[in-house]
Amino acid sequence: MPQARPNWEVYERMVARLMSDTLRTDLCVTPNAKVLGVKSGVKRQIDVLIDARHETDNTRRIIVDAKRRTRKIDVTDVEAFLGLMEDVGATHGYLVCPTGHTPTAERRAQDAVTIALVPLDHLGDFDPATWPKCMNSRCHHGRIFWTGYPEIYMTGLPLDARISGGPRRLSFVHHVGKCDRCGRFHVQCTTCEEILSLPEDDDNDIGHQCSCRPPWFWIASIETDNEGNRSAELHGVWGIDQYLTVDRRPC
Ligand SMILES: [Zn+2]
Ligand SMILES: [Zn+2]
Repeated sequence: MPQARPNWEVYERMVARLMSDTLRTDLCVTPNAKVLGVKSGVKRQIDVLIDARHETDNTRRIIVDAKRRTRKIDVTDVEAFLGLMEDVGATHGYLVCPTGHTPTAERRAQDAVTIALVPLDHLGDFDPATWPKCMNSRCHHGRIFWTGYPEIYMTGLPLDARISGGPRRLSFVHHVGKCDRCGRFHVQCTTCEEILSLPEDDDNDIGHQCSCRPPWFWIASIETDNEGNRSAELHGVWGIDQYLTVDRRPC
């Protein structure tokens, strides 16, 4: 039986999808993120979190609150959101809703918060249930949210090199992302279509390869920034000291 998702969650995921599809590629998107509040000392739920993709750096954090409801965003909503931004160290925020906002909400928002209108008709036939299933056996009904498409190149010498004119650069495209419920990283090789599941907290994990058996592998780890904030990170590795961090999320 497919599990029906609540309407507010579908709206949140659509906003995450819109963000991920329009942002610069050096930023990565985490839907349904949990961030430890510096002031509150508790984990805060963030509808859509945007952080640096390639390095352990949370100094330019952006958060998004998606409110699917019939009432307009008012000044109280903006103030609560500013408090959340401060708690999780966000430098900018987006308040998204289908119905607009009051004039005082806009004045209070100033430069720190962007209030954005995303109408419900944008949903169309958008449905996270069509995304691949999370492969974490302990996860309940999570789906994989792809948020990056790294390409790795390999120089190959075709068998008919003398005729065809020497080495060719072969490109291998991947989808990288994480589960929208438990956050588990996944990588899909678009050549063989295999999906790999990558735990960040398994000390015995030595990395994962798709069935193409390419000269690279994928591995996740936990890293800490200068302020002591922990993040789970996904890396592509193709040699000693040759790796790229392709996705991140707080943990
Ligand atoms: Zn999951
Ligand atoms: Zn493959």
